[in-house]
Amino acid sequence: MKPVDRIPRIVIVGGGVAGLLLATRLGRKLGRRRKAEVLLIDRGPTHIWKPMLHTFAAGTWNIFQQQVQYLAHARTNSFEFMPGSIQAIDASRKTIVLDDLVINGTLVAKEREIAFDQLVLAHGSHANDFNTPGVPDHCHFIDGQQEADAFNAQLRAVVARGFLNRQNIDIAIVGGGATGVELAAELSRLVELATAYGGQVSARKYLRITLLESSQRLLAAFPANVAASATRQLQALGVSVRQGVRVVRADAQGFVLEDGTRVDSDLKVWAAGIQASGVGGETLQRNRAGQVIVTPELSVDGVPGIYAIGDCSSLTPEGAERPLPATAQVANQQAQHLAKHLPDHVLHGRPIPAFEFRDMGSLVSLSHYNAFGTLGRLGFFDGTFIQGKFAQFSHAYLYRRHQFLLHGPLRASALWLADRANALVQPKIRIS
Ligand SMILES: Cc1cc2nc3c(=O)[nH]c(=O)nc-3n(C[C@H](O)[C@H](O)[C@H](O)COP(=O)(O)OP(=O)(O)OC[C@H]3O[C@@H](n4cnc5c(N)ncnc54)[C@H](O)[C@@H]3O)c2cc1C
Repeated sequence: MKPVDRIPRIVIVGGGVAGLLLATRLGRKLGRRRKAEVLLIDRGPTHIWKPMLHTFAAGTWNIFQQQVQYLAHARTNSFEFMPGSIQAIDASRKTIVLDDLVINGTLVAKEREIAFDQLVLAHGSHANDFNTPGVPDHCHFIDGQQEADAFNAQLRAVVARGFLNRQNIDIAIVGGGATGVELAAELSRLVELATAYGGQVSARKYLRITLLESSQRLLAAFPANVAASATRQLQALGVSVRQGVRVVRADAQGFVLEDGTRVDSDLKVWAAGIQASGVGGETLQRNRAGQVIVTPELSVDGVPGIYAIGDCSSLTPEGAERPLPATAQVANQQAQHLAKHLPDHVLHGRPIPAFEFRDMGSLVSLSHYNAFGTLGRLGFFDGTFIQGKFAQFSHAYLYRRHQFLLHGPLRASALWLADRANALVQPKIRIS
């Protein structure tokens, strides 16, 4: 039986695009007035806006200036933060188990059990290597801050070697989705900017980027005109775009394709597909990509009190043929939906209404060179193709809006101003 004085506990696992927004909103609505305890759990200490991960990987934007410290943010928004990685869910006992917490080689906390009344899974996804031999051992993944940092360290070494020895910088990226396309453009920009530090050697002629995609076109989830424009722009930057090629193996020297030919490279990146990590002890229904299948109310069918949002979930809207894509836009809207309706459900037992996705369009940004996209259902503008400065502005706006929702107008404006000031006084790329 519940103790009478105990307030409900909402546990959110994963402080990404969806999870941090939800925790922030629920903290302000429920935590501040002690109507419910809101607990956010993440395996890392800081949040970043994942759609800009490729800029951190390329070193064209400073990751340290864009992090949100969970502990500090939790304090100002009336929720609790606990570092930890989810290991198992026991739906019948309403508990989750967190792994041993090890920080810099020190065991900080032993395996722990956390009770919940409501559990929201928002632990995202990572690239899917489809069990391709050699990929885990030889490829970089751009899935999180640590991976982006590891890639950047090696990138700086390879670029420096190219400059000093006047030798080719070979980079191969597998996966022509938004991550692969945006990363290829950002790497081109990095090398262009690096010329300023390389004794005026024009490194562009040494850079050879190959983008490998198994389907017949890049950006399969985007409209065809967006994909065609992005492909032309990449080719104009000198990127070798190879579509309809399947990688069957990776080794220390590069990739082996289905037809037996090779693409050799110094740096290999795997950015194809997505996969959500399973959690032990659970009986949640998942699809082939490991995403939890949810009902229109975003809850896990047959398991009361458990929800899944963002990339780790899969929702096929009524009448649709395919599930919603794994994008920041979907993650954001799902978080806002639960933030609006979960309080009434928790406090007054009101049912959560069905989530309706509003397609606001799709955008892909090719560094400072260009951006392409379509406007979503905005009445007159339905599906309009956009490019250039307006598309670049719209892409940048998505991040600023995320900051606005997390921090409010004053802090978000201060952060924007700080970025402008930093851009004036700091090098444009990470050089050490
Ligand atoms: C390079 C790149 C570019 C992209 N560009 C775009 C774009 O232009 N537009 C767009 O809409 N989308 C883009 N995306 C996709 C977008 O980033 C995701 O759809 C979005 O981040 C999903 O949000 P989420 O909250 O579900 O997961 P995430 O934002 O990935 O957050 C998941 C959180 O869960 C935590 N976590 C993971 N496992 C555990 C665990 N076991 N225990 C505890 N915590 C855990 C992680 O640390 C992380 O903080 C891009 C993705 C990448 C990688």
